[in-house]
Amino acid sequence: MRKTIMPSLIKGVAAAVLLVVAGCAQRTGLQEYKQTRTYFDTFVTIQCFYAADTDIDRTMEKCWQKLEGVNKTMNAESPLGYVSRINEFGFYGVQVSEDVYTILKEAVAFSERTGGAFDVTVYPLVRLWRTAAEAGSLPEEAALLHAKNVVGYRHILFEEDRTIRLESEGAKIALGAIAKGFAIDAVGSVLEAAGIEHYLIDAGGDIRVRGKNRGKTRWNIGIRDPRKKDHVMTVLQLTDCAVTTSGDYERFYTIDGKRYSHIINPLTGYPQERVISATVIAPTAIAADAYATAVMVLGAEKGLELIDSLDNVEALIIEQTPDQTLTSHSQNFPTHKK
Ligand code: ADP
Ligand code: MG
Repeated sequence: MRKTIMPSLIKGVAAAVLLVVAGCAQRTGLQEYKQTRTYFDTFVTIQCFYAADTDIDRTMEKCWQKLEGVNKTMNAESPLGYVSRINEFGFYGVQVSEDVYTILKEAVAFSERTGGAFDVTVYPLVRLWRTAAEAGSLPEEAALLHAKNVVGYRHILFEEDRTIRLESEGAKIALGAIAKGFAIDAVGSVLEAAGIEHYLIDAGGDIRVRGKNRGKTRWNIGIRDPRKKDHVMTVLQLTDCAVTTSGDYERFYTIDGKRYSHIINPLTGYPQERVISATVIAPTAIAADAYATAVMVLGAEKGLELIDSLDNVEALIIEQTPDQTLTSHSQNFPTHKK
């Protein structure tokens, strides 16, 4: 039997889940800043419209520094970051930065709200599936059971002096599902503190917008069709919120010709099936990010039940069954047009 190995990570603007649709140009007294750099294995763009008296150079320097910092300290694969330190010494307790302490507190709160569908301690299972895909065969049952047993957000203990302890030996965390959201929220705060009222921050499809494009119109955000590359399915006109799409088309594993999602159900230990795309609109990017991952795990029925129970959070979910593609959305998801 021929085995395909494909822990696929397709990078690039063309692969960005959400496409920013160009807005119409209109004259205002505002000036424009727009720059793209590479962080989190993807492109991060900051675009804003600012008044002439803004100290734009200093503000942007702070924004890029923030991204640099989050990127460095929160990557589970980077040996110098806090996440790696927690994964190595967490059983004994590790003192972390304020950012890492905050993001972990938030992560646990999202786990509680999603009944454990979102869980930053799922990393041992993520690694197991990644290694299995590289070897071209499914993980051993015993290994799956072992990994599943060390997973659980309740094993994260928050102690004095910003110390994080992992109660279960072998427990490991990864912030990949929310680090980009956390980072662009932080960048948004820097921009707002500098008095910038109109901006869009796009980190490889995690988007946060405020105010208006060119100070005039809402921001147009295109949502890509999960099965038709470069085809925009819907254009949302948004302001003062964040939107994230989690999909199985950018990152996935292939084992024996079968495609497996990179999102793992922490309760079963298996990659989620059915959901091929989940778009979430929320007040903050970290919330949009966490709920998009959770909804992938929960599926449309339970996922939308959760989303409808939350204030100011909306979702659009696309599922693939053997014979059909199903699209469903939460009660107040903005009506969209082609
Ligand atoms: P991206 O937008 O970069 O594709 P996602 O936001 O979809 O990233 O998150 C992917 C990462 O989330 C994975 O690399 C994995 O480490 C982590 N992950 C997978 N399943 C879960 C889960 N159930 N809860 C929290 N994190 C998860
Ligand atoms: Mg995410």
